[in-house]
Amino acid sequence: MNLYEKARGLIPGGVNSPVRAFRSVDMDPVFIRSAKGPYLYDVNGNRYIDYIDSWGPMILGHGREDLIEKAKGYLEEGLTFGLPSDIEVEMAELVTKATGTQMVRMVNSGTEATMSAIRLARGYTGREKLIKFEGCYHGHSDSLLVKSGSGTLTFNAPTSAGVPMDTIKHTLVCEYNNMDSVREVLREFPGQIACVILEPIAGNMGVVPPDIHFLTELRELTREEGILLIFDEVITGFRIGYGSVSKDWNMEADLYCFGKIIGGGLPVGAFAGPREIMNHLSPVGDVYQAGTLSGNPLAMKMGRDVLTILRDNPQIYQKMEDLAERLDRGLTAKLEETKTPGVVKRYRSMLSLFFGEFEDIRSYEDVKGADTQMYARYFKEMLAQGILLAPAQFEGIFLSDAHNEELIDYTIEAAGKAMLAMRK
Ligand SMILES: *Cc1c(COP(=O)(O)O)cnc(C)c1O
Repeated sequence: MNLYEKARGLIPGGVNSPVRAFRSVDMDPVFIRSAKGPYLYDVNGNRYIDYIDSWGPMILGHGREDLIEKAKGYLEEGLTFGLPSDIEVEMAELVTKATGTQMVRMVNSGTEATMSAIRLARGYTGREKLIKFEGCYHGHSDSLLVKSGSGTLTFNAPTSAGVPMDTIKHTLVCEYNNMDSVREVLREFPGQIACVILEPIAGNMGVVPPDIHFLTELRELTREEGILLIFDEVITGFRIGYGSVSKDWNMEADLYCFGKIIGGGLPVGAFAGPREIMNHLSPVGDVYQAGTLSGNPLAMKMGRDVLTILRDNPQIYQKMEDLAERLDRGLTAKLEETKTPGVVKRYRSMLSLFFGEFEDIRSYEDVKGADTQMYARYFKEMLAQGILLAPAQFEGIFLSDAHNEELIDYTIEAAGKAMLAMRK
């Protein structure tokens, strides 16, 4: 019995998170045994260039020797105490300073971060409704597993079985980059909306950059209406630059959610904001939130070390952006050369290659037109050339400090070959 077969008997679908099952690319998953630098090694000893980066956390590449050495020491100091520790204070200072916030609460995943930030927004405003945008992903808590229904604003549908209609009745779904859709909802529910949550750069429908006017108008309008603006920066935080991407636009959200990178590869999430709001959390305030392993010392120390390296080496961001631009130009050229329909969307170091014919890509409505079968063929051709892309069209390409121009150029050449081979 092969590993996948065995896994499927023991774990639903053989995986602990659905995208890993490779269903979108119509093949069996690759099981990884180890990783080093920019490479993943599967259980059969094959080596792949990793463009998944564990979906973001491995921004410095896998298995940096200095971090491994430090981690060994951390193991000696203790794994978890269930009591406050000094590293939590140090990490809180690091994160708040980097993000221009005053307070932060640590949790164990991005899902927890957004779920808790929304509870806080509701508790703080005394309002119940929230706005999210179609195609933005904020983890798998009940009230966020929603898509817009046909027709009316109030008729949304859960995207998962097991989510009661009553749980999502306060979730309003708008179109990304479309302020009219937000204004319409605000008119319909005056004074009832607690928060608007979004990925400031959408990364979970493939990379869809925001229209700056959309963001600034959204900021103004939410401020006027007393609605909290929540930036879900579980991907963008510490990836576009050190801290929040909102610096790029000279903008401030009310609450920020982080995850992925800030745990340095261990399970961490966080949400942050001003004292005035954050002090509504228990034990000071009346919004309950807790976690046995929250602020886990090992995770805090690994996160602290990764963030410190990023803070002290800003050239890493420039390097990733340069590599992304190189990849963008190279892939775009290969699309043209091979007459393959597709487009690259990029914001600094975040990018996606969408297959299909597009006028523009601004929202979920637009990305829905992507040719997922073409992506599946492309993915397989790339895999055969030792390149592991995200096993789904609607994901980004994740770069790390361990990537370099040589790997990018190899990837571009491989993409050209893949595009030719896909026609057959
Ligand atoms: C990954 C992700 C989440 C969920 O984080 P988990 O750690 O998987 O729970 C939330 N928001 C965004 C934008 C993400 O990319």
